[in-house]
Amino acid sequence: MRTALYSCTPIPGPDGSVEPGGRQLKFVWYRNYLEGGDLEELLTDTTGHRHDTSLPPGSVKDTHIAELRAAAVSRLPEPIARVVCSAAQPFLQVIYDVDAPRMAFGRVCLIGDAAFAVRPHAAAGSAKAAADAWALTEAIGVIVLSLKKMAVADRRPACSKAFRRYKSRAAGLFVSS
Ligand SMILES: Cc1cc2nc3c(=O)[nH]c(=O)nc-3n(C[C@H](O)[C@H](O)[C@H](O)COP(=O)(O)OP(=O)(O)OC[C@H]3O[C@@H](n4cnc5c(N)ncnc54)[C@H](O)[C@@H]3O)c2cc1C
Repeated sequence: MRTALYSCTPIPGPDGSVEPGGRQLKFVWYRNYLEGGDLEELLTDTTGHRHDTSLPPGSVKDTHIAELRAAAVSRLPEPIARVVCSAAQPFLQVIYDVDAPRMAFGRVCLIGDAAFAVRPHAAAGSAKAAADAWALTEAIGVIVLSLKKMAVADRRPACSKAFRRYKSRAAGLFVSS
């Protein structure tokens, strides 16, 4: 591990309380691991199964939990280290920066994290996903508008009306007397 970033925030308690004393603390600790053996070992659960991107609560190996707690005690301020050490079943998720070279593929459009996922400590991913959705809505609006303009300019509705008139007149010619 070379660099790390720690964030600890209060969240509502189990009963939804947001009052001091009734809230819970959530921590996220970003720690760098080397690609390859270092990361693979971390992603191997207690049963020996190797996961790709995350380990659910209860499946992180004891050795890694012990290392996490020891690092917390030696590197973090005491109250914050206590939060880490109090977590009974810490879990983990691998975070990568993802930057798709294109956002549109034929009739498919990538937005939000599917297009670009950046490390979450910037706390802007939701806003970016919403901005993408707005941009897509506006783009679809422009397309719909131009389709409407085309429909107005299109002579087909008038032609089909004339065709229906002609068809019923033609049919009338065959009504037997
Ligand atoms: C630990 C962490 C902390 C974060 N903190 C912040 C923060 O403080 N502020 C902030 O702005 N952002 C934060 N982010 C980032 C933010 O959560 C994301 O950028 C945002 O949720 C992206 O929105 P999205 O709609 O693109 O994707 P998502 O929110 O991931 O939504 C994708 C949805 O698609 C569903 N889905 C997946 N596959 C399928 C399928 N085959 N069929 C149907 N549905 C499917 C998923 O279940 C999910 O509901 C954080 C992320 C992490 C991991």
